[in-house]
Amino acid sequence: MCGIVGYMGPRKATDVLLQGLKMLEYRGYDSSGMAYVWRNQIKVHKKEGKVASLEASLPETPSAHCGLAHTRWATHGKVTDANAHPHLSASGRVAIVHNGIIDNYHALKAELLGKGYAFKSETDSEVIAHLIEDNLKSYPAEAPEDAVRRTLGRLVGTYGIIALFQDEPELLIGAKNGSPLVVGQGNDEIYLASDPAAFIGATRNAAFLEDREMVIIRKNEWITKTLQNEVVAREAEALSWSAESAVLGEFPHYFVKEIFEEPEALRRALGHGGRLLGDFGTAKLGGLNLESRDLLDIKRVVFVAMGSALYAAQVGAYLLETVARIPASAEDASEFRYRNPIVDKDTLYFAVSQSGETADTIQAVQELQQRGGRVLGVVNAVGSTIARLCKGGVYIHAGPEISVTSSKAFLGQMAVMALLTLLLGRMRILSLARGREIIESLLALPGLMEVALQQSPTIHNLAKKYLKYKNFLYMGRGIQYPVALEGALKLKEISYVHAEGFSSGGLKHGPLALVGPETPSVFLITEGDSFDKVLSNIQEVKARRGPVIAVTNSDDPRLASLVDDVVRVPKTEELLAPFLTLIPLQLFAYYTAVELGVDVDRPRNLAKSVTTE
Ligand code: GLU
Repeated sequence: MCGIVGYMGPRKATDVLLQGLKMLEYRGYDSSGMAYVWRNQIKVHKKEGKVASLEASLPETPSAHCGLAHTRWATHGKVTDANAHPHLSASGRVAIVHNGIIDNYHALKAELLGKGYAFKSETDSEVIAHLIEDNLKSYPAEAPEDAVRRTLGRLVGTYGIIALFQDEPELLIGAKNGSPLVVGQGNDEIYLASDPAAFIGATRNAAFLEDREMVIIRKNEWITKTLQNEVVAREAEALSWSAESAVLGEFPHYFVKEIFEEPEALRRALGHGGRLLGDFGTAKLGGLNLESRDLLDIKRVVFVAMGSALYAAQVGAYLLETVARIPASAEDASEFRYRNPIVDKDTLYFAVSQSGETADTIQAVQELQQRGGRVLGVVNAVGSTIARLCKGGVYIHAGPEISVTSSKAFLGQMAVMALLTLLLGRMRILSLARGREIIESLLALPGLMEVALQQSPTIHNLAKKYLKYKNFLYMGRGIQYPVALEGALKLKEISYVHAEGFSSGGLKHGPLALVGPETPSVFLITEGDSFDKVLSNIQEVKARRGPVIAVTNSDDPRLASLVDDVVRVPKTEELLAPFLTLIPLQLFAYYTAVELGVDVDRPRNLAKSVTTE
């Protein structure tokens, strides 16, 4: 799960590639590198560490107009300069960058070693460079394109690849299978990248490749073909993203920028209100590609997802079951696939993923489809693998999320869950009046979220106050339970402070043993049925001298007098309160990370799109 980018055009390729790598760095950042042809030779620069290390180590580079680059998240081979991409073939005629895993690289490597090819890295990827060279040598009459095609025919696994050739300095060949690859078409320049973020500052015109497709880029032209050498008609289409949405602006980090974009992300997920049908108290989601009759036949909803998306899906399952009265559950996609799941035709499955490239979720989708399950996507990245596999679904339209740690996409996912609840609920038990009430509350949420965000300085102070603690417990009940899980995940992901989320009801079943003056608890306690129960749980923690931060929308004086710190969020419907209680948790994790000096947007060991299992 890395980022790759290629460039062909009038500008100085090394500058463009460096810029592209910075935009892709969220995908991987343990080492990076680039290659271009200069005076009939492929030049490679690569460096362990973040893209800034590569930049600092670059010599004065010549003005080549074609090249490729890579930012790595190691799967095979340690994080070293030698294992960084690009990889050169033995004679230096071919350079490749690769995103993915070549499952049969052992066998290929043994074969190539037998033929005398010497390997310089421990990666699986290097076999690709040698194989292309071997094919170029074995079939000298054929074009580089054929050598790449023959090579792809030998690969088992996932790949997004770009190849560069010493003998043809104005040629780039790309191919994909399971890893994303998108062509960016500028006025007189062409990009090829894992994600449009790499070129969105230059062009919004993009064409997404399908699996087992190649793209051949020459000068000002590109053409897509299948691995069987059939031309695929594909045109670049304008993306709705703007260049600004992928740049930092006045914010020091993408994570906090994206938290502050949450009200707008919610408006967009609600289609600026256009997905809501106020008169009918329901929602309109044309992308589902299902007739009302099909929707009426659904007996159960199952979400498959990982990480934050899984918690958003848990909120969704809660909403669907409580409001729409449809049995619903959220499943860890990586477990779902391997436990031989029962798939039935009356269940509607949703795959939830920000990037639409999450390997575990993709595989769950494929498993579902194999077994005849109907599966739709809830994704952010337009044209991503899940979006294309599912043939239907709902885009959350949160705009590019660059921070590795998710924020606004989580909000967008919850918004889509609320829309699904309205749609399916109104076909069943939900009354018109109640549907309209929920719509009104949803439409009021972005404004209330802006109010919640104003507390950012207070939460910064709170983070400073609690900086000395090494372990945190996060607890909530009902629909706040997944929010507690998400809050704990945020803290551990970006600040490396240990945090666990529990149901408040689960407190006495184990976690209470951890409670004491050295372990603070963050309680989500909102107005509604479970308020008194959670209050009792807080009492239990206070009785054991555990520090407590309460995130609440209640003015109940019993709470304020009991806990150490109160963070107040605006009032809304009980079932929509997660949209507001989430914000202080995200900000708390952010300011803790900032105070601890952690690289907020690029937490160690993580990558944004988890494209390997
Ligand atoms: N498997 C390759 C490596 O370990 C590429 C990993 C990636 O996609 O980042 O170098």
